[in-house]
Amino acid sequence: MYYVSTRNKQDRCTAAQAIARGLAADGGLMTPEVFPKLSPNGLNTMRDMSYQQRAVFIMNSYLDDFTSFELSTYASKAYGGNKFDAKEVAPVRQVDPSTYCLELWHGPTCAFKDMALQMLPHLLTASLKKNQESKTVCILVATSGDTGKAALEGFRDVDRTRILVFYPKDGVSAIQELQMNTQEGGNVGVCSVVGNFDDAQTGVKKLFSDEILREQLAEREVFLSSANSINWGRVLPQIVYYVSAYCDLLRDEKIQKGDPINVCVPTGNFGNILAAYYAKEMGVPIHKLICASNSNNVLTDFIRTGQYDRNRTFYNTMSPSMDILISSNLERMLFALCEHDDSQVREYMSQLNATGMYKVGPNIQTKLSKIFAAGYCDDAQTQKVIGRMWKEHSYLIDPHTAVAFDVLDQYRQESGDATPTVVVSTASPFKFCDSVLGALGVTELAEGTAILDQLSELTGVPVPAPLAALKNKNVRFQNTVSKEHMVDKVLEMLS
Ligand SMILES: *Cc1c(COP(=O)(O)O)cnc(C)c1O
Repeated sequence: MYYVSTRNKQDRCTAAQAIARGLAADGGLMTPEVFPKLSPNGLNTMRDMSYQQRAVFIMNSYLDDFTSFELSTYASKAYGGNKFDAKEVAPVRQVDPSTYCLELWHGPTCAFKDMALQMLPHLLTASLKKNQESKTVCILVATSGDTGKAALEGFRDVDRTRILVFYPKDGVSAIQELQMNTQEGGNVGVCSVVGNFDDAQTGVKKLFSDEILREQLAEREVFLSSANSINWGRVLPQIVYYVSAYCDLLRDEKIQKGDPINVCVPTGNFGNILAAYYAKEMGVPIHKLICASNSNNVLTDFIRTGQYDRNRTFYNTMSPSMDILISSNLERMLFALCEHDDSQVREYMSQLNATGMYKVGPNIQTKLSKIFAAGYCDDAQTQKVIGRMWKEHSYLIDPHTAVAFDVLDQYRQESGDATPTVVVSTASPFKFCDSVLGALGVTELAEGTAILDQLSELTGVPVPAPLAALKNKNVRFQNTVSKEHMVDKVLEMLS
């Protein structure tokens, strides 16, 4: 199977090349040329498999240049041992007779990014070997919180890799900052940047296009790469948990073979929900994909009207991982919707670049509204939902997950659609203690890591072990640089 750029179908490469490259030279995203289909009995075959076995089964159909043996080695390293605190890895919890919650935060950093970032380092290092690349790869990450920690944990002590994470000095939660600055591993570096997330992100982008830096690194046998969600090696492991959730529902006889389900996904960069779309394309009976946004509701408007318009106010919300106005993985969705018409995708992307907006034609708009439903939820409503879920179901959820539950409610009321629905839960509530405590009516918040115990004592829900362990960890990094000096940090780390 070959991978092509969404902006130029003539640019074809193997899976290992697509993963090593991250982004196509023309700025497009590497995407499978043809999507594999599950065999009629595929879902039944996977019913009684472990999560790791399901991961091998699915990933195998996308990665011809990897053997099943290789993939099962990676799957047990990524999801086995005691890396995840749930033996199901991605457990499905029933909330009411027709609503389920797919918990994706049982990994080492308590956010759904672990599902992909525990796998990506194995795929990437193996891809480099297959491509006979002899240099060391240095992963640069700009993060608003969750990705940085998940990438550090995924790449820590992985052979022939270095990782350096930049986060905005005043743009991450105290727990998130502590998680990063206590990171262990011999190949890791963490540094804050004066400014907001955009400053960190722009700074990292500049590093990637810095020719002098590239030459200096080449002399040291190092090249730069990215762990962003545009890399195919991050999207693929995410397809697995949608298939896995369906198999769990089959196994537990909550649904029968062929029964449709809906999925509702709290969305930012469109990576997570795109993986759900690919699962549907493979043959998982998914009826509607419900796209949930916070007040940064650019995707809600796009799905409802066909017009994408990023020219709007940016809000800092209590679901910060969804505070995004340019959803980069939407490009892969457009490529699918216009049946791989690369010139059409190029046109939309250049309009987005030039004017901040584009509008799809009626044909694409019809397809879009057939596959997706969309809605959004503001902070006040998010808090109410956290409070209500706790009161009615004794179920503690984080603000991102709460956005999804609210949008599902809205969708059900508007459409009357009673299809059983899987709501995707993307972070442990303990990552966002202050918002969650606020939603439960607490006004006096404890300082530092004591806030973890405060939430645990109030609810009786135990603090996840990786967060509880923060109390006893040494702070290893206390670096801050200005945007202009990020390049010095990279050189310093690699010297
Ligand atoms: C990254 C993230 C999201 C958004 O996922 P996308 O793939 O960018 O849509 C949602 N919730 C949490 C907690 C996240 O970390």
